[in-house]
Amino acid sequence: MKKIFLLLFFYTCLLYAQRDSLVMNTLGSARTLMESGKHQEAHQQFRMLFSMKKIIPNEAAYWYGVNLFHLTKNAASKAAFKKYLKISGDTGLHFIKTQEYLAKLDCKETGYKEVVITCEICYGDTILVECHHCKGKGLEVCPVCKGNGVVSSQGAMGRTFHTCSRCQGEKVLSCSVCKGQKKVRDICQSCNGTGRLKVKRKCED
Ligand SMILES: [Zn+2]
Ligand SMILES: [Zn+2]
Ligand SMILES: [Zn+2]
Repeated sequence: MKKIFLLLFFYTCLLYAQRDSLVMNTLGSARTLMESGKHQEAHQQFRMLFSMKKIIPNEAAYWYGVNLFHLTKNAASKAAFKKYLKISGDTGLHFIKTQEYLAKLDCKETGYKEVVITCEICYGDTILVECHHCKGKGLEVCPVCKGNGVVSSQGAMGRTFHTCSRCQGEKVLSCSVCKGQKKVRDICQSCNGTGRLKVKRKCED
């Protein structure tokens, strides 16, 4: 019984190894054809690879996109690169190259490409902006005397007036939000505090 299990186990391993090598061989031959400029033949290999319904390495989507790029099938190429980004995220081996190809495709399509630049307003840090509470004056109206400088009280001898003890008769106090500094720290509105901006740039050629 144990022997049968072992045999089955080895057989399964062999099957998987064969499947894997079939995938890797097809991908390998597609890449070789592509690198020798035979893009149409490479395309056939890629189609065959994707029709296998097997586990295919993520990078196949990238190479497929590169080949389609050379075949000037721009929309399909873009779709392949987007798919690659979707499955490998921004940690994929070909992440930077993919961005470059997508920029080139944007150039072909619109004459413009999207690039990410550093926000030179904040460099990713918070910035000093005018205090919204006091509109940058650093002062607010005394809430006790409402800006009169004097308060009154009703006593036995009638109403008496005296200097507001809160503002010492100054009518105003230091702004409670900025503490009289006129400015407060806030996140940059241009980049939402990310420190990066996406901008459209005209393509050179
Ligand atoms: Zn910014
Ligand atoms: Zn006051
Ligand atoms: Zn203020």
